[in-house]
Amino acid sequence: MLNRRNLIKRLSAIPVLGGLVGSSIPFLPAQAAPKEPKRDLFKELGVRTFINAAGTLTFMTGSLMQDEVLDTIVSTSKEFCLLDEVQDKVGERIAKMVHSESAVVTSGAFSALTLGLAGVLTGTDQKKVEQLPHLEYTGMKSEVIIQKGHDIVYKQALTNTGCKVVFVETVEEVEKAINERTAMLWFLHIQADKGKIMHEEWVALGKKHNIPTMIDIAADVPPVENLWKFNDMGFDLVCISGGKAMRGPQSAGLLMGKKDLIAAARMHMPPRGFTIGRGMKINKEEIFGMYVALEKFINQDHAKTWKQWEEGIAHIDNSIKKVEGVQTQITVPPLGNHTPTLQVTWDKNKIKLAKDDLVANLRKGNPSIELGGGGPESFSVTVWMMKPGQEKIVAKRLTEEFSKATV
Ligand SMILES: *Cc1c(COP(=O)(O)O)cnc(C)c1O
Repeated sequence: MLNRRNLIKRLSAIPVLGGLVGSSIPFLPAQAAPKEPKRDLFKELGVRTFINAAGTLTFMTGSLMQDEVLDTIVSTSKEFCLLDEVQDKVGERIAKMVHSESAVVTSGAFSALTLGLAGVLTGTDQKKVEQLPHLEYTGMKSEVIIQKGHDIVYKQALTNTGCKVVFVETVEEVEKAINERTAMLWFLHIQADKGKIMHEEWVALGKKHNIPTMIDIAADVPPVENLWKFNDMGFDLVCISGGKAMRGPQSAGLLMGKKDLIAAARMHMPPRGFTIGRGMKINKEEIFGMYVALEKFINQDHAKTWKQWEEGIAHIDNSIKKVEGVQTQITVPPLGNHTPTLQVTWDKNKIKLAKDDLVANLRKGNPSIELGGGGPESFSVTVWMMKPGQEKIVAKRLTEEFSKATV
């Protein structure tokens, strides 16, 4: 293909065509240009790439989109359309897939939390939409009830609307905390076991008091059923990340739920301005890309994928366990980041290796490898964000490092 730089160079050499750059491009006969090697922007800018043994972490750029998603992004980038129409049509399809009345693609789970709550506060009242995040003297509600065990830094997404958070522990405390200012009851699935009140009861409390309930399941597929489980259960709003296990665009997420609440949330979203959500823009390519990623995720052979993850973990486990002093355990986090995870520690008397040095050595290696967190003397490994074969490299490098440090 003729790239733009060469094209401009060539055109400007022809005086008559020179002024037509841009408008004349489609009429140029396709001609074979010398093929330039593909640009490698990582190399060009000196950005380190690595094997991701850690998981779906924003600071490591989340996950890798699959080819069908990337093809969608490229193909949908070639035409104009109305942003709202894409959201309407994609949202309808997504809602069917996840058993919700309605759905919208947001710029991540975090913005789904903010936009969902914003919609709860304002409904479709344009004046109120413009008043956010200032709630005082507006007649809008201003409190969100959360269980203490569900406290997480991401609650900032809720307070960004101007609301404050009220913490509770027991059903009695919920009943006591509910007042005319209560806007929403919020639930965090990944820490469900740290709270005293479980999902169904939370939903029932919301229904009893006619207060909307929202659940954050950002990192909580697989299992794939979680996509519809909480919609079926009766949560009014369900928020999930698109760029974690579903491998949609890293900047995408889904807000699913009741029709009127999704319509209200969209009042805060681009293309509308004068809203707290104007900066949470998501482009049509990402919206289509998220739709295709979701479809692919739902339709994938989940049992086969799980087996591949288990095999990858077993390969690494078997390799490093051969070094005397290495201790491993395979766990599966039950609520979120639900994937086989290898927990690794080692006997400091048999292997003289500080965790920081191990991390640094793997990082400096070629290829570079990033491990998952853990304590000061342990780390974890997952394979779900690896490309086929990378588990072999990780196994080999870890075994090398442990062997070298053996006393
Ligand atoms: C990742 C995460 C978020 C934020 O999701 P984004 O898609 O990155 O915006 C919110 N809540 C929880 C529990 C998460 O794990």
